[in-house]
Amino acid sequence: MKLNFCSLSSGSSGNCYYLGNEFHGILIDAGISATSIHKFLKNLNISMQSIMGVLITHNHIDHIRGLAGLTRKYNLPAFTTRKIWNSILTPHMKIPYDCIHEISMKKEFNLAGFSIAAFPVCHDAPETIGFHICAGEKKITIATDLGHICETAASYIKEANLLVIESNYDEEMLANGRYPHFLKTRIKSDHGHLGNHQTSAFLADIMNDKLGNICLAHLSKNNNTPGLVLQTLQRTFSERGIVMNGKQRISILNRDIPGDFIQLDDNNL
Ligand SMILES: [Zn+2]
Ligand SMILES: [Zn+2]
Repeated sequence: MKLNFCSLSSGSSGNCYYLGNEFHGILIDAGISATSIHKFLKNLNISMQSIMGVLITHNHIDHIRGLAGLTRKYNLPAFTTRKIWNSILTPHMKIPYDCIHEISMKKEFNLAGFSIAAFPVCHDAPETIGFHICAGEKKITIATDLGHICETAASYIKEANLLVIESNYDEEMLANGRYPHFLKTRIKSDHGHLGNHQTSAFLADIMNDKLGNICLAHLSKNNNTPGLVLQTLQRTFSERGIVMNGKQRISILNRDIPGDFIQLDDNNL
């Protein structure tokens, strides 16, 4: 089975990821407008009709900005836990009743030929989840907003052939930047975001041959650059003696425009 992954947008101003097989696709988060999602998918030759649903990780605006539009305009089913739905469904967020689908933590469900499980992550929302998605032999894990990688999240991440994980801020840029003290503390906390050193050290711990694609996601606009993300990762890997095999690939996801279209087939896990 062929699998395609593409980040439509990644970062603190909007997150939306596409995952598809030969027949259907799903979206993970809807943090950009429904119009932008439609436009980006069209540019990739993907029709909205092929999208079977959207998975939502938490209620922060950079993950749900386009959710009302997507559900109302395209009647797209949306999936998240009851606690997250309770935090999303405010009087201003009008979502058609038949688009609201409730899922349970760590319980697999099927959508568009994928077997999907949500797992809890530490973040400062009423509840936040990551997704572990299986398509035949291939496993994709998405964990974009987490201040700390707890054991449960690590167990799902370690299984991945394609991993989307955040590398939100450069520790030095954040420390020397203009954010107020309370915000710096929030970002660095166990319920904030992962910094470049944290993500790099964790990846060095779990690196294995099955992990074919690493997508570093959710970069901060003010406290990070793609160059620093890559430099930190390369330095950490070299200090730890991690050598990647020739097939493994690292992508730094763009903030406002789609990233590379990543195709996974049986030879390229
Ligand atoms: Zn976010
Ligand atoms: Zn968040």
